[in-house]
Amino acid sequence: MENELRKSLVAEPFTKVGGYPRFGIMGDGAPLCHKCAEDHSLEIDGCDEPNHEWFLQAVEINWESELQCSNCGDEIQSAYEPVEADA
Ligand SMILES: [Zn+2]
Repeated sequence: MENELRKSLVAEPFTKVGGYPRFGIMGDGAPLCHKCAEDHSLEIDGCDEPNHEWFLQAVEINWESELQCSNCGDEIQSAYEPVEADA
């Protein structure tokens, strides 16, 4: 079964209004970029274990966090300048 959240992230990696970058949050809490959501559609669509690393639990906007995709390591773009974690 196709995962609606994944489809929405792949179809709309940036919000229609404002163009804010969106990313996925996986079952283990790790962030996932939209490219990996597309590349790993089979794993994501096939996963129905809520705590699993391929379980897409939410899609959110990255406002100002310094995030890296847990799968490919690419930086996940933020809407505003990232806030320094140790500031
Ligand atoms: Zn990625």
